[in-house]
Amino acid sequence: MEGPDRSRSAGAPPAAPPAGPGPSGPAAPDPGPGGTAPVRPFQLRDVKLGNGLLQEKRDRTKNYLRQYDERRFLVLFNNQAGRPNPAGVSVPGGWEDGGLLSGHWAGHFMTGLAQAYADQGESIFKTKLDWMVDEIAACQDAITARMGAGGGPGGGDPEEPQIGRAPGRFDSGLRLNGPSAAQHVTLPQEAISQLTDFTIATWVNLASAQSWSRVFDFGQNATVNMFLTARAGVTGNVPRFAITTGGSGAEQQINGDAALPTNEWVHLAVTLTQNTGTLYVNGRVAGTNSNMTLNPTHLGNPGNRWIGRSQYGDPFLDATIDEFHIFDRALSQQEVQSLLDSAAGTTGGGTIAWYRFDEEGGSTLKDSSPNGRDAGVVANQAETELWVPTHPGYVGAIPEDAVLRLGPPRWAVYGGNKDTNTWAPWYTQHKIMRGLLDAYYHTDNQKALDVVVKMADWAHLALTVGDKNHPDYTGPITRDNLNYMWDLYIAGEFGGANEVFPEVYALTGDAKHLETAKCFDNRESLFDACVQNRDILVVTPENRPGRRRPDRLHANTHVPQFIGYMRVYEHTGDREYFQAAKNFYGMVVPHRTFAHGGTGGNYPGSNNNTEMFQNRDNIANAMAQGGAETCTTYNVLKLARNLFLHEHDAAYMDYYERGLLNMITGSRADSTSVSNPQVTYFQPLTPGTNRSYGNTGTCCGGTGLENHTKYQETIYFKSADGGTLWVNLYAASTLTWAEKGFTVVQETNYPREDHTRLTVNGSGRLDIKLRVPGWVRKGFFVSINGKAQKVDAKAGRYLTLSRTWSRGDTIDIRMPFSIRIERALDRPDTQSIFWGPVLLQILGNPGNGAYRELTLYSRLKRDGDYARSAITHASTTAAGDPLFTTHDLTLRPYYISDTQPASSYFRRVEPTIVFGSIDTGVANRKRNDGLPNYDVPVSGITSPGDDGPTFLDLVWDQAPFGNHGQFVSAVTRTAESFRRAGVFTAVESARVVSGAARANRDLEP
Ligand SMILES: [Zn+2]
Repeated sequence: MEGPDRSRSAGAPPAAPPAGPGPSGPAAPDPGPGGTAPVRPFQLRDVKLGNGLLQEKRDRTKNYLRQYDERRFLVLFNNQAGRPNPAGVSVPGGWEDGGLLSGHWAGHFMTGLAQAYADQGESIFKTKLDWMVDEIAACQDAITARMGAGGGPGGGDPEEPQIGRAPGRFDSGLRLNGPSAAQHVTLPQEAISQLTDFTIATWVNLASAQSWSRVFDFGQNATVNMFLTARAGVTGNVPRFAITTGGSGAEQQINGDAALPTNEWVHLAVTLTQNTGTLYVNGRVAGTNSNMTLNPTHLGNPGNRWIGRSQYGDPFLDATIDEFHIFDRALSQQEVQSLLDSAAGTTGGGTIAWYRFDEEGGSTLKDSSPNGRDAGVVANQAETELWVPTHPGYVGAIPEDAVLRLGPPRWAVYGGNKDTNTWAPWYTQHKIMRGLLDAYYHTDNQKALDVVVKMADWAHLALTVGDKNHPDYTGPITRDNLNYMWDLYIAGEFGGANEVFPEVYALTGDAKHLETAKCFDNRESLFDACVQNRDILVVTPENRPGRRRPDRLHANTHVPQFIGYMRVYEHTGDREYFQAAKNFYGMVVPHRTFAHGGTGGNYPGSNNNTEMFQNRDNIANAMAQGGAETCTTYNVLKLARNLFLHEHDAAYMDYYERGLLNMITGSRADSTSVSNPQVTYFQPLTPGTNRSYGNTGTCCGGTGLENHTKYQETIYFKSADGGTLWVNLYAASTLTWAEKGFTVVQETNYPREDHTRLTVNGSGRLDIKLRVPGWVRKGFFVSINGKAQKVDAKAGRYLTLSRTWSRGDTIDIRMPFSIRIERALDRPDTQSIFWGPVLLQILGNPGNGAYRELTLYSRLKRDGDYARSAITHASTTAAGDPLFTTHDLTLRPYYISDTQPASSYFRRVEPTIVFGSIDTGVANRKRNDGLPNYDVPVSGITSPGDDGPTFLDLVWDQAPFGNHGQFVSAVTRTAESFRRAGVFTAVESARVVSGAARANRDLEP
């Protein structure tokens, strides 16, 4: 098959979108979110974005999609299908690299192209997408054509290469590139992706003096990596550790001082703490570098995590290795030396991973740390013969077997061994199916629908009949089997696969697809609890439900399950699915939501995995290190939007706006680079941290392609009966509501400015519902055709304009922004600052993870308006972004996306009760609200504790005050309640009230 004309995607993008109509033909039926709900979305193609923040982020992403060579995605599919590949086309990399998650990015890329096309109808996106769909269809046909009658023997285990063990330093070790087939080792991705300080220590016994071979090499490619070579091919052939994000010329190195011997055991260790890196040889300091600014988090989420293999294609390591430890801290020299005496020395073994190579043999390397991060040996062997599928219709970039082995009889677990482990195989199937459905919905590609229906047929067999050709097969997959599959950490992650099958049902009428969707019910350990609204997202070990559920659930595994349940509900009417989704959402928002809309985090002393849910109402405590995964917010937004279509509660849209205008817009770098998607993975929340961008081939890179090409999807909704238009978001845009004969043009520079004009072109009755954001404090004003309207505008509700409209009617909306402080649920002194819908970050790095400390109450006037004198507007950038200042610090909107360090939270320090310049001398004590109540051990915190808001918090929460008398009354009431509770003495209470009474002049606005 011909590829697309390559000249299209090379060089400069096309000058302008075609001026003619957008995508041609009737809109494809879309049984996606809300397809059967009382309120429904518009098709993506019905809404065009105007100029503004969202369009800027979108255009950068569209430029990437336009320029990226889509042929790179097909290489891995062709390899599985036995089809040839064009010369010189390389795989995308990251996790789209031939490893066990391969194929997921092809799906995201198709969705990205489909959405980019729906947006302005530029033909290049459809040309690329059509080509991908044709090729994937051809792969699907080629794989199915390999089946004989009944398929198989594909279900059998892939033949495992013979990999023995060799004598090690302690017990056995692993000989690489010696007599056995072992060539190099791959580690699972979590082994290094979230490390800052670290130690990597191992024994190595070199069989030859070979330059540049790697003891280890973790990274993305020859530009972004960190490695240890036993023998750098430069003068002296000393060992070298290096880390770089800019290729070999930008390496930060630690060089040893002498060449290592061959044919004897040598202990090597690299430690990094803050800016100091140390290389130890046999426990002796062989080199240091005290100017290190890079650490493993700067590598992003590296697709290549190798022992014995180089990113540069240097010779594989010719050596035996033993006792490979990874720690999340720098060991002391004494501790390093202790590793010379025994396998774990005094350390207890690697805290992140520890490979001992003491297995009997085989290609799995057990992780002896408590984390279960098994690694795999990659064998040196010729390409195996093409596999034969078990069921017809499969297509993917990994063998069918890598999906089937998750279930019985093998129950494969997550790990680095391509032949026996698995990595979220249904997640990948979902991304491919989603991409194909989006190609159908947004670009009318019929073939995409054909392919996805065959994939759904295959999925039905895979999840009901199962791995039938495996020699140990015992019969069809049971409900119990499915429960066991989905509870498995990471391997059981299915990415919301259950959302696509009800859509396939709606498109085909074949009810078996509803049955497939229900196969994904996570029944054993979560579903019923959510139906009953029991929050068990985090449990203690003794209360852990299910046979293999972790105590703490992985956020992005679980949020999409509930998106799928919504689709099951929409196409079956089965209410418990809705109830489960609604209740689950309520456990995440607000109880586990950070100011920017993200969830996840890390409690002090935890296992360094910020992808997990934290304890209910733990916000400040969950920011110990790192932040929130961007993907998860992508999914929580999807869930909020879908719930809104059924319940129309404006709180869902308040959350949606928070996540969209902060974390999602903030995830796309404001740069024009197209070498990668330039999106975030984690968005850190610890003070003074910076975002980093990139993410080719990762989950967040994939959802990143989607986030920025669908900004128009939630701006407007319509009622199923066509009588109501919902305006949910304020964003420059044009809605074409063809069946109603209305267009609505929204002119605004929101969220850079706080006013909006809607021009309604159409005639007849229509209710227009306007969202009054929950953050509104200074009113919400509406004029129609220039005439002010009396409206019932309540923050956090919708108001309705019922009217017979005429062509050209205008609605002007003003919702003055204000500075607003939000307090963390668990620590009221840990606060964030908002300007209208926008989180403001304080620029700079206070250092050592310390919070900025701000004192603000003495600057407030009676109106309680922070923007007047406490946190004030300083200037406006060329792009129109407002900058603020307080305490000589600069604050700016979170959505500005560069790499400057900044803080999303600060500590409020208000030691005494002060009204303007009047200091009462009374300590600003806290009300005892029993906060916090952490049920994981956090040192120095009693549980339950006695934290709560301060006296001044409670007084100023009642602002604005119409006159001084009202202010004094509020102070008197609050002081009296503190006195009654024994927090103030009678004398203190009187002193506070008298101070307030004297503050008339000070507080005059
Ligand atoms: Zn992600």
